[in-house]
Amino acid sequence: MRVLVTGGAGFLGSHLCERLLGDGHEVICLDNLFTGRKANIVHLLSNPYFEFVRHDVIDPFKFEVDQIYNLACPASPRHYQYNAIKTIKTSVMGAINCLGLAKRVRARVFQASTSEIYGDPDQHPQQESYWGNVNPIGIRSCYDEGKRCAETLFFDYHRQNGVDIRIARIFNTYGPRMLASDGRVVSNFIVQALRGEDITIYGDGSQTRSFCFFSDLIEGFVRLMNQDETTGPVNLGNPGEFTMIELAEAVLRLVGSRSKLVYLDLPADDPKQRQPDISIAKGALGWEPKVSLEEGLKETIAYFRNGLQG
Ligand code: NAD
Ligand code: UDP
Repeated sequence: MRVLVTGGAGFLGSHLCERLLGDGHEVICLDNLFTGRKANIVHLLSNPYFEFVRHDVIDPFKFEVDQIYNLACPASPRHYQYNAIKTIKTSVMGAINCLGLAKRVRARVFQASTSEIYGDPDQHPQQESYWGNVNPIGIRSCYDEGKRCAETLFFDYHRQNGVDIRIARIFNTYGPRMLASDGRVVSNFIVQALRGEDITIYGDGSQTRSFCFFSDLIEGFVRLMNQDETTGPVNLGNPGEFTMIELAEAVLRLVGSRSKLVYLDLPADDPKQRQPDISIAKGALGWEPKVSLEEGLKETIAYFRNGLQG
């Protein structure tokens, strides 16, 4: 198949491009390189079945493709809040452009949605049927509401135009190729521990997240895209739930670092807890994560150790 991956030069997108090429597909990677990097895909550029197109998803595009994965959107709070208006445009107009193309060429289209759909959840763990608790006017809203609107668009194109959609709600995912400077908690803690800097805990560190290693997630993407049973939304994430203090302690132990924990203000609207209920993914896709936090952290630490030395 010929497959379009928007956001294909980013952390998850580049791993997905690699996987799709490995599965024997032709891949077009479209990215404006806002948070993505050529370094993430440089090893793919010599492959005749891989093509990189520098383009912004808010401007229309046309390709003859069989499948579209829409990943274009900055994912870390630091980057999505940098230009909030651009973030919401990317989610909404990017979705419209992908859906319009899918309708025209009859491609199946996948949306990289997010656990942020659930906001600061008062249901725990979160099931797909939960409508969420999202602030529509806060500093995270450009991302949360942009992604919610994208899901609405996906279902409206599906109902109104018969577009063949798949939606994954991704919970915090980490691994090699995250940006050292992107401000997400796993990359922050690892880089701080490796540099011997203080580990910055926001709030009292009792808030929880469930961390999935990238390889498990990409397997979930491909399974969701290549089955006919469900459109989603399907939660994809690792149900192992940790407080930020537990994460910091694991990183310090695995790095062998003596960095101290320091406590900073909690950002506005920071969700207190997050854990995916993955019953649907297990049932419909036969999918569940395999990589433990410890194994995944070791691989990610090795990646950053190399990068920081190089
Ligand atoms: P990332 O920032 O590394 O990747 C996003 C990619 O999209 C980058 O390559 C960036 O340059 C590109 N991009 C941004 N705006 C664009 C635009 N207007 N036009 C074209 N390209 C654009 O982040 P990631 O972690 O790889 O996330 C990929 C997708 O998965 C995002 O849609 C994100 O919202 C979603 N997601 C990720 C996580 C996670 O924990 N990693 C969780 C939930 C959802
Ligand atoms: N966090 C933290 N220290 C950091 C970066 C983040 O304690 O240096 C916390 C943050 O407040 C949040 C959690 O870690 O509670 C996850 O943050 P991240 O930005 O990685 O993702 P998100 O909030 O979007 O889940």
